[in-house]
Amino acid sequence: MKNRIYLRPHHLICLMSFRGEGYDGVFISKTGKIVEFLKNIPDEKLICVEIGGDDICRFCPNRKGELCKDEARISLLDSSFSKILGIQRGSIYCWSEVRQLVIDKLSARDFEKICHECQWFQICRSNLWP
Ligand code: SF4
Repeated sequence: MKNRIYLRPHHLICLMSFRGEGYDGVFISKTGKIVEFLKNIPDEKLICVEIGGDDICRFCPNRKGELCKDEARISLLDSSFSKILGIQRGSIYCWSEVRQLVIDKLSARDFEKICHECQWFQICRSNLWP
């Protein structure tokens, strides 16, 4: 595994609640490896905030070129979470800092407003606000 993981802002939220669900077997396996890697070294600055396609999108069947096939909608998610978490492209974090940012800055109300149409909404909702 390389020593920097590039993640678009909304994936910071998705990965907090990843439980082995995803778009296909390859996506689930690769995403699971990234989550395990980050969780095992929670205090190392491995995460770089990316805009556009990232290290999760790389293995996704919904990818189109370097971006998501639904990039216009997805980039709105990213900008909403960027604003709320106060993060920007190129910022570097460790897993524990991302967890703390989400706990400190993301309210259930904002999360619901942004993510209510996502198919994984209930998984994240019940993990983040049990
Ligand atoms: S390509 Fe789209 S659907 Fe797939 S992980 Fe990236 S943002 Fe999500």
